[in-house]
Amino acid sequence: MLTYQTWESHELPSFPHDNETKGALDVLAWAYGEYKDDIVYACSFGVEGIVLIDLISKVKQDAEIVFLDTCLHFRETYETIEKVKEKYPFLRIVMKKPSLSLEEQAQQFGDELWKHNPNKCCELRKVIPLREALTGVTAWISGLRREQSPTRKHVEYINKDDKFQSIKVCPLIHWTWKDVWNYVYKHQLPYNVLHDRGYPSIGCEPCTSPALDPNDLRSGRWAGRGKTECGLHIS
Ligand code: SF4
Repeated sequence: MLTYQTWESHELPSFPHDNETKGALDVLAWAYGEYKDDIVYACSFGVEGIVLIDLISKVKQDAEIVFLDTCLHFRETYETIEKVKEKYPFLRIVMKKPSLSLEEQAQQFGDELWKHNPNKCCELRKVIPLREALTGVTAWISGLRREQSPTRKHVEYINKDDKFQSIKVCPLIHWTWKDVWNYVYKHQLPYNVLHDRGYPSIGCEPCTSPALDPNDLRSGRWAGRGKTECGLHIS
């Protein structure tokens, strides 16, 4: 098995991406064959997440899916998770919460931390919980696509993840926004209704607005706060 420690000397497999899923199914089949139950998918239940869940269910019906439940998500996001649970009853969906409740966080760091220190808020409510969720597993899956932003355009299928001392598998790197939606419509998958209301990228409610720039799908995330990533994908 490829482990983080042996990364430097390991020859990574290559995957064709001139097929229907642009390599995603091949990557997932390899990853679950390699890591078995030692891999989790950290899913935000945005539309890319729905595509990945459908593809994962073809490879491993009882895969473990982790949702970083900050307690600050939109009602529509929680409704989407319920729809996914109905459609894929064998998936193991874990709602991973931060150790601090919102009240405890407010007592220790002040009210509405996301307004005056969003990086600290993301660290407490996303980064640390993901680190805990990845403890004891070798690899994790992410729905990053190269097209999403300049910070993501060099992502590979299989990435050494120094931040979490893990291996990050990104099956959708070659998918475009159009590919994602074509797949969802073709397979009639459930998705977050906020996507139909101008939200291409959906995170926590206090930090997500409809996209400000139609050419920048993530322009509604932390708009006006000089922040573009929650910290999960930054070394
Ligand atoms: Fe806090 Fe906003 Fe980060 Fe959610 S996205 S954890 S509310 S700063």
